[in-house]
Amino acid sequence: MESASPKLIAGKSPINGRGCFAAIPLKRGRKIGELLGARISNAEAARRVAKGGKIRICELDDRWSIDASRGGDATAFINHSCEPNCFSRVTRGHMLFFALRAIEAGEEITLDYTPSQHPGRRCTCGAAKCRGVMM
Ligand SMILES: [Zn+2]
Repeated sequence: MESASPKLIAGKSPINGRGCFAAIPLKRGRKIGELLGARISNAEAARRVAKGGKIRICELDDRWSIDASRGGDATAFINHSCEPNCFSRVTRGHMLFFALRAIEAGEEITLDYTPSQHPGRRCTCGAAKCRGVMM
């Protein structure tokens, strides 16, 4: 998958499958990108999660989710970490990602998914303060 954003690039991740990596250094607080994909209802999101497989769905609010498995860019591959370097914020129906601290070029972009679509799954983030399990 080609990245639409020059700030980010998808690649093989030591955490899980493919990941999202910084292509350039990113300053703390900088907007990193937006989760792109199809807007679906939370009921449809629940059906897709129940089917299993790779899930790239994020809930926007109590009605809507984004499924980034089609039409997404590198942000679709942001993996969970218990000690993340990015955070998300929902603004007018858009899920935006920002740098939580300075991020070096080549560093994997990670987000603390809380709650995640896989509660109870073993966490493989490798962080020193890893909780050991997805929330
Ligand atoms: Zn962890």
